[in-house]
Amino acid sequence: MKQGGKNLEVIQAMNRTLLLRLLQQNHICSRANLSEQSGLKQATITNIINDFISWELVEETGLIEGCKGRRAIGIRLNTEVFYVIGVRLSRKYFEVGIFTLMGELVEEEYREYITDTKPSTVIPKIQESIRRLIARYAGKKVLAVGVAVPGPYYFEEGVIEAVFTDWEQVSIKSMLQEGMPLPVVIDHDANAGVLAECSFGLDPNLYETVVYLAVGQGIGAGIYHEGKIFRGAAGIAGEIGHASINMDGPRCECGNRGCLTCYASTIAFMDRVNKRRKDLGFSPLLQFQDLIEPAQKKDEVVYSEFRTNMRYLSVGIINLIYSYNPDLIIIGDEMSRIGERVPEEIKYNISQLMERKVLKQAEIRLAAFEKDSAFIGAAELAIDYAFVHTELFRGEKIF
Ligand SMILES: [Zn+2]
Repeated sequence: MKQGGKNLEVIQAMNRTLLLRLLQQNHICSRANLSEQSGLKQATITNIINDFISWELVEETGLIEGCKGRRAIGIRLNTEVFYVIGVRLSRKYFEVGIFTLMGELVEEEYREYITDTKPSTVIPKIQESIRRLIARYAGKKVLAVGVAVPGPYYFEEGVIEAVFTDWEQVSIKSMLQEGMPLPVVIDHDANAGVLAECSFGLDPNLYETVVYLAVGQGIGAGIYHEGKIFRGAAGIAGEIGHASINMDGPRCECGNRGCLTCYASTIAFMDRVNKRRKDLGFSPLLQFQDLIEPAQKKDEVVYSEFRTNMRYLSVGIINLIYSYNPDLIIIGDEMSRIGERVPEEIKYNISQLMERKVLKQAEIRLAAFEKDSAFIGAAELAIDYAFVHTELFRGEKIF
């Protein structure tokens, strides 16, 4: 491994990135605030902010309450000039949106897969949507594309495994980048989810290890530790959905037996409800969205299967707690639409199975965003890429 000596240009780039992240976190702050939070000298802050202003990347606001009660000129990211594209690829649909540097969704396109989910069909459709949005914002500067994909996703190779047929043969990273005029950054949807929550949903200084558990048609965890995503050797850390909770259980699409996803995903929940209803002579089959209200209102069949799902999920969460010892666990994706009953059930279940001391240290709550955190996180992947590669703000092509 190389030693980490840093040249002046590298340090300057790191300082720029740090200030951009602080501006994103703080919304508006003064130069003195930035100096205090970053530990950089006021003169360094002034130089960097002058560059940012000349690139139209930040703008000055009126006077705000500054350090030690002194009023000072506020600075914020300019949300009118630069944009990014966020893409959420799911098992049944994809959505493509244009976002500001503060992660606000401005416009989106949503497409469901009708019959064909081959990469050769789906990827050109995603690229068409991206190009349409770029063309619509022709007078603005669109910087990068961030994509959140279902896992297991091998980060370095850009390959998704065991989600759709034929996808493990191709690098989605190379296919999406092909012919695209912007850099494309791809990550697992749970990693995108944790990034959105830690960038826009909470104060990251309050937590050391945050886990975002995406509970949808699949289950995966994004792990944010000491300011960055923890990926592991091949990039699949957090694939808790394919950790077994029953070695004699059904064979999962990943090859393992009794995976958590087979018991606690929204598909497993839906299948159990539909089986019970069929046994009781009811039809037609219900979709997950049909189960939200009955679960909230404690409808007999749906509520009892919801509780079963939560018991399975709680076993997975206990495994997560013992593996990563997080101080915050956020439940997101489809299942979070049922609302507060989800964390309530989980907390009750794990209180029956864990030592109180361990439990007290792990806060469990719902995702901060009503709109899917992974979609917002896809945009944050692109924003973060631009914050690291600030040449993009000067219009330089760097890929
Ligand atoms: Zn599996």
